[in-house]
Amino acid sequence: MSTGPTRVLVLNSGSSSVKYQLIDMRDSSRLAVGLVERIGERTSRLKHTPADGESRERTAPVADHEAALKAVAAELAEDGLGLDSPELAAIGHRVVHGGLRFTEPTVVDDDVLAEIERLIPLAPLHNPAGLAGLRTARALRPDLPQVAVFDTAFHTTMPESAARYAIDPEVADHHRIRRYGFHGTSHAYVSRETARLLGKDPSEVDVIVLHLGNGASASAVRGGVCVDTSMGLTPLEGLVMGTRSGDLDPAVIFHLARVGEMSMDEIDTLLNKRSGLLGLCGDNDMREIRRRVDGGDEAAALAFDIYIHRLKKYIGAYYAVLGTVDAVAFTAGVGENAAPVREAAVAGLEGLGLAVDSGLNAVRGGGARLISPADARVAVAVVPTDEELEIATQTYALVTA
Ligand code: ADP
Repeated sequence: MSTGPTRVLVLNSGSSSVKYQLIDMRDSSRLAVGLVERIGERTSRLKHTPADGESRERTAPVADHEAALKAVAAELAEDGLGLDSPELAAIGHRVVHGGLRFTEPTVVDDDVLAEIERLIPLAPLHNPAGLAGLRTARALRPDLPQVAVFDTAFHTTMPESAARYAIDPEVADHHRIRRYGFHGTSHAYVSRETARLLGKDPSEVDVIVLHLGNGASASAVRGGVCVDTSMGLTPLEGLVMGTRSGDLDPAVIFHLARVGEMSMDEIDTLLNKRSGLLGLCGDNDMREIRRRVDGGDEAAALAFDIYIHRLKKYIGAYYAVLGTVDAVAFTAGVGENAAPVREAAVAGLEGLGLAVDSGLNAVRGGGARLISPADARVAVAVVPTDEELEIATQTYALVTA
């Protein structure tokens, strides 16, 4: 470990929020965590929690990302953890779309900013926020390395057979259409932690990672390298999610436009915001859906079954893509907490060597753990994700290299 500064500030700038964590890389401890919500509204809220003190909340309006970051800097300074601290090694920024160019975490300069801007048409909701965070942080500390860590980077190793859609390559290339995949920092972290749980090096294990949060994606990771993932050009493809449909026949869109006379914006909103679990049964929180299922609610039961059916299809597909599977890892809000989802997703897959021990599956919390029977051919694991730590780790590795 280097003897220089050891702290990394991780910034995750969303369209109307900024989440942050100040991490000491010597022991991965959080010195402060917080978030600013509802940026641009009158009801903005900042919540800041230092490691050794009480949480503080502020409710003054925060006009934009620049104001948000300045407010965060002021909170950190109040705890003696300000951006001017000599202990700060770098700021690591989550950037959603890195296109084909950014295959690794990257120290930000003018050229990198221009390229992230050029990628906005591929991630119109996400990249502008990341860019605003980067620009403001750079203005506040121009001398400090600012590192962009891309959600897409881990997936850039996919072979063309997985990344290309079966459409005219000229049209695809002209419009930069291909499978990029998202949640990459989580898939990277969880696949590595799964190898560690098995007592092996990542290069020795083949893992199917199921990141099931409000957004959800699956990936097939061979020897530490991503070979396929379920999200595509955008985060809309793949699994059934909280509010997104995931896979559907693309002709549904023509049909809605031609026969349903819906506009492109209306269809976009329908598929991204009013579909998935929410669209199917009116709830997108898995806790509420399970409560309704247990109470005999048919719409919730059907939504749950559709969610599980899709998940099972991807487990099977990625089993075939990988050929051999050492582990299936569940992560994120649903994957880490919803035992019925894990049990149902693996039910009936004994022929593939997959099974869940119901006693182990019912245990709550407790970090990375195996939930498969001791004699199972394939390990089934719950592996809590930690995207902030992964961003900090990648950032710190780059600036201390
Ligand atoms: P994101 O980061 O995509 O917003 P998270 O990974 O935080 O999402 O996951 C959020 C989802 O996790 C919630 O919508 C909820 O359905 C689910 N979740 C959280 N806790 C539980 C729980 N105890 N049981 C079932 N589902 C849970």
